[in-house]
Amino acid sequence: MVKKHKYIFVVGGVMSGVGKGIASSSIGKILQSKGFKVNPIKVDPYLNVDAGNMNPTEHGEVFVLDSGLETDQDMGNYERFLETDLDDGDYMTSGMIYKHVIEKERNLGYRGKCVEAIPHITDEILRRWKKSAETHLSDISIIEIGGTIGDYQNALFIESARTLKIKYPQDVMFVMVSYLPIPGSLGEMKTKPTQNAVRQLNSYGVQPDMIIARGAQPIDFKRKEKIAFACAIQPENVISAPDIESIYDVPLNFEKDRISSVIMKTLHMRTKSHNGELDEWRKFVCKRKNAKRELKIAVVGKYFDTGDFVLSDAYVSVIEAVKFSSYWNDSRTCLSWINSKEYEADPKKISELKNYDGIIVPGGFGESGIEGVIMAIEFARKNKIPYLGLCYGMQLAVIEFCRNIIGWKDAHTAEINPKSSHVVIDIMPEQKKLLEENKYGATMRLGAYPAFLKNGTIALDAYKKSNLVADEATISERHRHRYEVSPDYIAEIEKAGLVFSGTSPDGRLMEIAELPKSVHPFFLGTQFHPEFKARPLHPHPLFTAFIEACINKNSQIRPISSSKILKISPNVPNVHL
Ligand code: GLN
Repeated sequence: MVKKHKYIFVVGGVMSGVGKGIASSSIGKILQSKGFKVNPIKVDPYLNVDAGNMNPTEHGEVFVLDSGLETDQDMGNYERFLETDLDDGDYMTSGMIYKHVIEKERNLGYRGKCVEAIPHITDEILRRWKKSAETHLSDISIIEIGGTIGDYQNALFIESARTLKIKYPQDVMFVMVSYLPIPGSLGEMKTKPTQNAVRQLNSYGVQPDMIIARGAQPIDFKRKEKIAFACAIQPENVISAPDIESIYDVPLNFEKDRISSVIMKTLHMRTKSHNGELDEWRKFVCKRKNAKRELKIAVVGKYFDTGDFVLSDAYVSVIEAVKFSSYWNDSRTCLSWINSKEYEADPKKISELKNYDGIIVPGGFGESGIEGVIMAIEFARKNKIPYLGLCYGMQLAVIEFCRNIIGWKDAHTAEINPKSSHVVIDIMPEQKKLLEENKYGATMRLGAYPAFLKNGTIALDAYKKSNLVADEATISERHRHRYEVSPDYIAEIEKAGLVFSGTSPDGRLMEIAELPKSVHPFFLGTQFHPEFKARPLHPHPLFTAFIEACINKNSQIRPISSSKILKISPNVPNVHL
């Protein structure tokens, strides 16, 4: 335990997916505004050693840290809400902990002792929590324990937290994020599942200090009292958390129920300083509410058999990055998810893209729907529709350029056709060996790398505007890929007019490709993932430049549409941000 350090554990009751991550991030934001330094930690109970090998359409986006660690999307929420960069010690899975303990046992690290879940796994968990707090020199750790109360697999994390509370009763608090259903047939908010979840938590020897009552409606005082009576907490420690339009309203909403005073009281703390942190936040939230126009952006990719909920989870950082740059430009955006296979089946359909103010091709892997994506990129280039390609979206833009401008008709990526006569996107040499040995976990080119930007380019202009580049025009962005623009073709591609406006400092790896402004208003792709560094109060310069280009294209102001989600065809869900 770090001296005088405070711990807030956030656990889930009743069911998953009700917003523990947003609740934890919002608590963090509020505490920041009271002058505290907070460090969030995400605990994922699964046995995967990291999130790298997990399918994003099942588990949500893989969020990459500067260090290259592949983590859960909640880490993205923390970074965005708290405007901070997190590191390896802030994320842990059961797999990671067990791997460490087992390797230590193999190396005689336990000196012949019998190694057991308690105390060896729990000690390792506690060691990591302590280290994370020390690394960040923080006042308060907010530790979100994944899963729901009653799951077998998160029990050891809760047990570790319990022992901290026993040792330091005034410095540790438990927050349960619970769900209060309103069954259609009754039309009334029910508290019983929450009561049962608290009882289950009690059976671990843990009493919640606060309950965040998630539900379709705000919880009324009568039900707060009911929960208080049944669960032995004060009614004011039940915080109302109804569904709201934007996750960024949550910290402000929590404060309406005076969440910070409950935390201060429980943890025996006093506000350090009022630093106006929430004022800036309020400004940002207002920007969204007062947006003047709606932009229409198509996200083209290989989506099939997935609903819009899953897609939004798989690309959450892209969506949030679009939001930030739109809101600060007095706009809201309607994203349409377009299955590129539809263009392969019916090439005439591609003309629908004329109706969009911009096109994004996000990151991805594999062959499915790729030709349709390339058709969409060609359409964006020829019709001067602003285009932003993210990782795969940049690689495919290079392929499109090579096929249709240079005339290398079979230009391709080694990921799909290594036998093409023009493998313009090739496997990185260090990746080749790893793949041959079936080493898939944490082996891509991952994490933050610097890039140099060229003078007179859209990229440099954009970064300069946001003060993100030093004099040497160097940026740092996060990566997650195995393939790169092949060094064999760079000179020819550049001669044909595509500009590599960002490269690795040694000039070997192409980081950004763009068309000159004289040719196209905005056509740019990045080998890295700028979306991982977009923050509400600091939108990403490339997303902002893209959104500005979309605004310029859309000369008439389109009113904000009121519906949240509108399906225009079974395969094309529109999401209004
Ligand atoms: N599949 C491509 C690669 O591995 C792009 C990866 C991505 O978009 N994240 O290089």
